Amino acid sequence: MTALTDPGAIVEITPSAGVETARHGWRAKCLQRLIRMELPVPTSFALSAEAVRAIAGGHMPDRACLAAIIERADGLISVRPSAVNPAWGGPGTVLNVGINHERHARLVKSRGKAAADAIYLGFVQSYAIHVARLDPDMFSDSDGGLEAALRAYEDETDEEFPQDPARQLAEVLRSMARAWDGPTARLLRQAKGAPAIAPLGLVVQDMALAIGPGVTGSGTIQFTDSVTGAPRITGRFRGQTQGRSKGEGAETLYLTRDPRGPSLEEAAPEVFADLVRFGVAARERLREEMQIEFVVSDSRLSIIDAVRLQRSSRASVRIAVTLVRDGIISPEEAVMRVEPRALSDLLHHQVDPRAPRDVIARGINASPGAATGRIVFTAAAAQAAQARGDRCVLVRRETVPEDIRGMHAAVAVLTERGGMTSHAAVIARGIGLPCIVGASDISIDARARTLLVGRRMFHEGEEITIDGTSGEVLAGAAEMLEPALDDSFTQLLEWADAHCRISVRANADTPEDARTARMFNAQGIGLCRTEHMFFNDQRLPAMREMIFAGSPEDRRLSLERLLPMQRSDFAALFEIMAGLPVTIRLFDPPLHEFLPHDREGMRELAESLDLPLSDVTRRVEALSEFNPMLGMRGVRLGITVPEIYDMQARAIFEATIEASHNGDPVVPEIMIPLVSARREVELVKTRIDAVAAAVRNETRKDFTYRLGVMVETPRAALRAGDIAEHSAFLSFGTNDLTQMTYGLSRDDAGRFMGIYVSQGVYAEDPFHILDRDGVGELVAIGTERARSHKPDITISVCGEHGGNPESIAFCLRAGVNYVSCSPFRVPIARLAAAQESI
Ligand code: PEP
Ligand code: MG
Repeated sequence: MTALTDPGAIVEITPSAGVETARHGWRAKCLQRLIRMELPVPTSFALSAEAVRAIAGGHMPDRACLAAIIERADGLISVRPSAVNPAWGGPGTVLNVGINHERHARLVKSRGKAAADAIYLGFVQSYAIHVARLDPDMFSDSDGGLEAALRAYEDETDEEFPQDPARQLAEVLRSMARAWDGPTARLLRQAKGAPAIAPLGLVVQDMALAIGPGVTGSGTIQFTDSVTGAPRITGRFRGQTQGRSKGEGAETLYLTRDPRGPSLEEAAPEVFADLVRFGVAARERLREEMQIEFVVSDSRLSIIDAVRLQRSSRASVRIAVTLVRDGIISPEEAVMRVEPRALSDLLHHQVDPRAPRDVIARGINASPGAATGRIVFTAAAAQAAQARGDRCVLVRRETVPEDIRGMHAAVAVLTERGGMTSHAAVIARGIGLPCIVGASDISIDARARTLLVGRRMFHEGEEITIDGTSGEVLAGAAEMLEPALDDSFTQLLEWADAHCRISVRANADTPEDARTARMFNAQGIGLCRTEHMFFNDQRLPAMREMIFAGSPEDRRLSLERLLPMQRSDFAALFEIMAGLPVTIRLFDPPLHEFLPHDREGMRELAESLDLPLSDVTRRVEALSEFNPMLGMRGVRLGITVPEIYDMQARAIFEATIEASHNGDPVVPEIMIPLVSARREVELVKTRIDAVAAAVRNETRKDFTYRLGVMVETPRAALRAGDIAEHSAFLSFGTNDLTQMTYGLSRDDAGRFMGIYVSQGVYAEDPFHILDRDGVGELVAIGTERARSHKPDITISVCGEHGGNPESIAFCLRAGVNYVSCSPFRVPIARLAAAQESI
């Protein structure tokens, strides 16, 4: 065994010692801060990451040095891991290193036999399991007592339990260093964001013994509730207990006075008062809400460790804001400390993390929040349930536009198929409905009205809970936490907005969406998908009539019926948004989406249109396409059936005049979907200009508008320079752009996305996090080419990525002016954009 020679490899942690987080880990640094505050921390030493790496490679510290540490401790020591980031974990702490027969005998005298035995036994167990790697079952049961454990050790290893404290310490250090290098530990910490070769430091600390005479024991204390973030002292004190070792009369005490039983506050009031005082000081000095680990040894208090308090999302917001209000951190720091995704937990109901969960299936967590309701299998059944006042969960193989009304009637949605940008996912996020898609383990029998999950069968009417945050389907009703849109939430976002370098708009289709968008301080509407306005009982018949029109004149007449409806839609949006920009996208989907899909529906349609059923089926068949997402949709429809866009443009302009009446003039933004060639823009622009001229003429009122293009095809991104010429703005529709760049159906990819991601084919689901290398490059190229032709052009991203923190960071760097996302994701986007801007 070679010796480790670097003199800085092991340092005693003193106020002035050179202890660094990067070299010695967070625990060593944190202990140094506590020591600087003159808290009663037992003598501690830090082993650097280089030392630990050397130990793992067989280069042990000098024996004399180890012996000195352990002699000096005049008793026992503990060894704890100290990674750079506490979230990366580390090997388990080993307590009571250094105990042998001789020290045991001394302890018998000072603390009694029971305490001495418990302390020795605890170490033999840890050593046997973690260092000698013997069968844990032989040692985890302490019934046989110390003698039996020592005998078992000797039987298994054919040697006496090591009596040399320095050797014990060397072996413990080596086993911990090696455990850190093991493949399981590496994978676990990489999953928490650690780099492949993350350093580990170790802390060696004198033991404060928690088994012995008087008020003696170990505990933890925290000053804030981990779930709510409210100030509250909680924790526990375990008398006569140290790790897994329990002495005679071991019992758990409350920390503060409690009618249910004895408390530390009553048993040792000075100790308790010191603990509270130290806690307040540590919070201020460490600038963080901490949980403190302590030992009381015959009424003498030792602080042995302090860790950042684990906290729920809602607690993380409240804690950050309170730390600012208490003058401990700056508002910018508070903004940086809250994970943007955590905000979505505050916007919706959550399954209480403390409650039991009966998980029956998993899928893609497409829209966050949780809700419990009775299973229904059709949109009609969902509407009927709502009419009865029942809460229901709509369970479908996948949803289609006709299901929108059913989705509005349900409290949550579950689909067997689909991915992050499938119909169900997009709509659910838009209306803030918990939703799981792509739950491929479930099997729906819509006729029998049953849902089979593994061997468990659920019938229509049975209760399930959808946890759209985790993607888990639970049987029955789960306990919930209420949303927490409180003052802390509002305050944090106000601080965030002060730093944002890009704007955040909302994708909003209805007045309700627009109101939600305003409630979350969206700076406008970046995408109004107008087709969603046609799916209700009054409008669908008019829409179908238009589709079935036999002549241009008939079509004009049905569009005239739709015109006032659209006009009032737009006027309502303009009014709610009160002068903020509103971008209206012209009609996008293939027409067949508005037609019935089954025979019964077609029969009803034939009846309402007073046509023979055969005419209806023929027309439906004529409109069906092999690949509708690449077929007659978007601008292609606008060019081949221009009357639809004419009607929409007129409705927008008339609404503009109506809404400009009382205040500042409204400047609508009109957006053309699925463009791939400049000529498409020219043709549509000519017609819209003509409609604008006609409306100005008829009304004798003037107005302006901005025309823009959605960049959703790779060609549009590559030809963005050309296309920019006729456009005031370009908005990247990254849902379709991802679909087309990968050649990957956004509605079907959910079936294999899990396998693709788990096998590392894709690092992430590209419909969820923007693919920087491919789709991102098209965004960057498109932005650059558009700006080189038209420097003042507005560029935005309005696909679902606009609400994803990682994608927002990319957009900001690519020079995008704003992102637009579902209203409920606006707060997340505001915080993510601020963090990128600070
Ligand atoms: C897009 O394709 O990114 C987009 C915003 O449009 P939609 O999701 O309606 O296709
Ligand atoms: Mg699109």
